[in-house]
Amino acid sequence: MIQDIYPSKLDNSYKIQKLTAKDYVLWFNAEGKTYVRISEESIGFVTGSDVKDSSAIYLFSVDDQRYFLVLGEVDFHDPEFGYYSIRELRDKSNGKELFATFTAYHLWKWYADNRFCGVCAGKLVPSEKERALACPSCGNIVYPRINPAVIVGVINGEKLLLTKYRKGYAHNALVAGFTEIGETLEETVAREVMEETGIRVKNIRYYKSQPWGMAQDILVGFYCEADGDGEIHMDESELKYAEWVKREDIELQPNNLSLTNEMMKMFKEGKERNRKIKLYDYIPG
Ligand SMILES: [Zn+2]
Repeated sequence: MIQDIYPSKLDNSYKIQKLTAKDYVLWFNAEGKTYVRISEESIGFVTGSDVKDSSAIYLFSVDDQRYFLVLGEVDFHDPEFGYYSIRELRDKSNGKELFATFTAYHLWKWYADNRFCGVCAGKLVPSEKERALACPSCGNIVYPRINPAVIVGVINGEKLLLTKYRKGYAHNALVAGFTEIGETLEETVAREVMEETGIRVKNIRYYKSQPWGMAQDILVGFYCEADGDGEIHMDESELKYAEWVKREDIELQPNNLSLTNEMMKMFKEGKERNRKIKLYDYIPG
């Protein structure tokens, strides 16, 4: 999955740091596209030696490599670079740089959408002690927004419920949706499956989670079973396809970045049962 970059590690601890020549610098334009280079499925970044911007905000590190964000567009041009959307990068690249770019996008979206205080309309400034924006006028503190959402693998015997969205991502998917206020994750699972496909579920069990900066989400994956005859009543406003598909007939997504794809793959290979949860999948044992 996109976050599986072991033995590398993303260190998101908050520090106030100054941009230096070897640091990576990201910025996003008004359409949310970022200025990078793509070669051999790997993303290359502008560095602090190309762009000297004293307002650059330190984001995080991947191993010893530091990433910074500049708010607003930077006047820097290199013929090898171009503006790419997060969706384009998802299709064209992989590796720790892609995960870093997803995470940088999540943080950029939060900084860009929270320039002013929602209480007094004063200008927000970065906190000196934690990842937060503070209002010097009224003391309001705004923390990064992370939207919880569920991904649901609904099982009916030897079949899995696959869907395709009416808009957006074209490949096979699972039932998915955002948690609403006042709801547990398990209730989100039951409600979303009912709304999208008319199916009642039982035996809900946690699988894994995934940070998905592209939509500012934390995705929480669950498997469950259909309760009843499994007759599908598809929500045609949201989906264009919802069917029970046999293990061997499951067609996976073109890459292994998403939790959805991993859950489809685990079921296809008959490995969705009795799985032990490890902190990182690639650590032996
Ligand atoms: Zn305020």
